Amino acid sequence: MPLTKSNIEYIKEVNGYCWNVITGCFNKKNGVCKLPCWAEKIANRYKKSFNPTFHFEKLLDPIKHKKPARIWVSLTGDIFSSHFFYYTGECSLQVTSSDEEQLRIEKIINPEATMEGMNCSSTACICELLQVVAKCPQHTFLFLTKRPEFYKEFKFPENCWLGTTVNYNEDIHRIKELQENKYNKLWVSFEPLYENMDKIKLDGISWVILGGQTQPKVKSNTMGTLQLLDKGKDIPIYIKDNASSGTTCKIKNFPPEIEYGEVPEPPESIGRRI
Ligand code: SF4
Repeated sequence: MPLTKSNIEYIKEVNGYCWNVITGCFNKKNGVCKLPCWAEKIANRYKKSFNPTFHFEKLLDPIKHKKPARIWVSLTGDIFSSHFFYYTGECSLQVTSSDEEQLRIEKIINPEATMEGMNCSSTACICELLQVVAKCPQHTFLFLTKRPEFYKEFKFPENCWLGTTVNYNEDIHRIKELQENKYNKLWVSFEPLYENMDKIKLDGISWVILGGQTQPKVKSNTMGTLQLLDKGKDIPIYIKDNASSGTTCKIKNFPPEIEYGEVPEPPESIGRRI
């Protein structure tokens, strides 16, 4: 099964791919997400489930894709929204007794977890996914979640970019959780940015995306946009066309590794003293 292309502006611009090996999300049910969700709308339109689901039949897609690519992981869901996944395809994972205990707790929080098929620990599935990522050093993988506190529970290979989403000031703690990873490839998506951002600190962040909301249409907060441009003046920022109506929408910067697929070699030092 091939990786898919996406119409999302910044992915299209670098000829990137999506790997929707995990789809669906419980972040509305668990109170983490308050936004209108385009992925859920599409799932509903095609009468597909929006429960967090691991698609084992797609697991090896990046290995089959030989040409180096930038690959966004799980764009139609959130990899950390649930402790358990429904699954499709052939699952080789064993359910352990601690998984069963966790499922018992999950059933209290989320009655839908009693549905048949929800017996796949998300930790075990994500470990499988990361093994595939580690086997593909030719690709760059981009992750995005509203639950960045879970990144530190996994060891991500060097070819990963870890991202989080911030929409309101109350989400700023997610950036702190991202920064705790001491990882040098961190990115933040503000799609859209609803408020001023005077308290934000972008130390250690290597890429910022600013976007608008499609349905209903919302542009990003103007003052917040200017504050981001000021606080992030030393880092690449990509502003989507739907984020702003001013000159800022012409700012479309990528880190070299995402724009070109690899970091260019630094020029040889010249005039070196012996
Ligand atoms: S976190 Fe993302 S995928 Fe999940 S409900 Fe919110 S917008 Fe949709």
